[in-house]
Amino acid sequence: MRPHERLDKPLIEKIERLKKQRHAVILAHNYQRAEIQDLADFCGDSLGLSIEASKTDAEVIVFCGVRFMAETAAILSPDKTVLLPDKAAGCPMADMIDAEQVRKLKAEHPEALVVCYVNSSAEVKAESDYCCTSSNAVEVVRSLPPDREIIFVPDQHLGQFVVDRTGRKMVLWPGYCTTHITITDDDIHRAKQQHPDAIVLMHPECSEPSKKLADQLLSTGQMLNFVRNSEARRFIVATENGIIHALRKQNPQAEFFPVTERAVCPNMKRITVDKLIASLEDMRYVVKVPPGIASRARRALDRMVEVLPAE
Ligand code: SF4
Repeated sequence: MRPHERLDKPLIEKIERLKKQRHAVILAHNYQRAEIQDLADFCGDSLGLSIEASKTDAEVIVFCGVRFMAETAAILSPDKTVLLPDKAAGCPMADMIDAEQVRKLKAEHPEALVVCYVNSSAEVKAESDYCCTSSNAVEVVRSLPPDREIIFVPDQHLGQFVVDRTGRKMVLWPGYCTTHITITDDDIHRAKQQHPDAIVLMHPECSEPSKKLADQLLSTGQMLNFVRNSEARRFIVATENGIIHALRKQNPQAEFFPVTERAVCPNMKRITVDKLIASLEDMRYVVKVPPGIASRARRALDRMVEVLPAE
C-alpha cells in the first residue's frame, strides 16, 4: 500500500491494527474514493473482487463497494463475516428488478435461460441460471447452447452490448446505471476535441448511441489491462471517475481525462475512511443472505466465476 496524501501514518497504523485484531481483509471496487482504494488489500472489478472474496483466508471481509457486492461476497464465503461500511450504499440498477419480476419473465419465456448481471440482488441471482460481470458477460452468453433464448437482467445497455458481440437473441430488461447513462454524445465530442489524440475507453453500461463513439468498450478491469499493454499515452475515460485513480497509479507515464466530471456514483462514494474505521471497530454493517436464497444464487455465481473473460 502506498501512503496517501489524505491518509497520515497514525491513521494507516490504526487501520492495520484493527485489521489484524479482526483478521480482516479490505476489498475495494475500482469506483471507490482514492483513499479507500489506497487502504484496500485488493482493488478490482466485480469479477476480481468475487474471486478474491471466495479465496481469502480472512475471517472478516470489509467490502468497500455497494450492497450487491457485499451480498455476493457473503454468498461465496458463507463462513466469513462480510461488512458493508455504509448500509445505505446500494445500486439503483440492482433495485430496478426484483425476484417476482424475474419469475414473471420466466413464465413468459419458459424455454429461456436467465443471465443476470452481478449488479442484482441475491434474490434475483437465485432466480437466474447464470450470473456475469461486464468482464465476462460476452463469454458467459457464448457458452450457452445456441438454440436457447436468453433473458438478460437488469442492464439493457450491457445486454445490448452482448447482443451486438454475440448475435444472440436476448430479452432485455429495461434497467440501467443512473451514473453511466449521464454520459452523453456531447461529452464525448467535447473530450475528443480537447484531446484529439486520446483513445476513448468506455464502459458497456453507457447508453447505446454514445457507445458508437468509443474506441474500446471495456469493463474497469479490462481498462486497466488494456492501458497496461498499450503503447498509447493519452486516454479519455468514459466510466465512473473512481477508476482514474487506479489508472494513474498503475500508469504514471500516461494521461487520463474524465469524459465528464458528472460521472460519479454517489452510492460508491458513500464509503469514507471514518466509516471504514467504524466498520472494523464495531463490526458493522453485517451483510447476510438467507441460506435458501444463498444456495440458489451460489449456483449462478459459481458458473460466473468459472468463465474468465478473454483478455
Ligand atoms: S456505478 Fe451504476 S451500476 Fe455501479 S453501483 Fe453505481 S449506480 Fe450501480
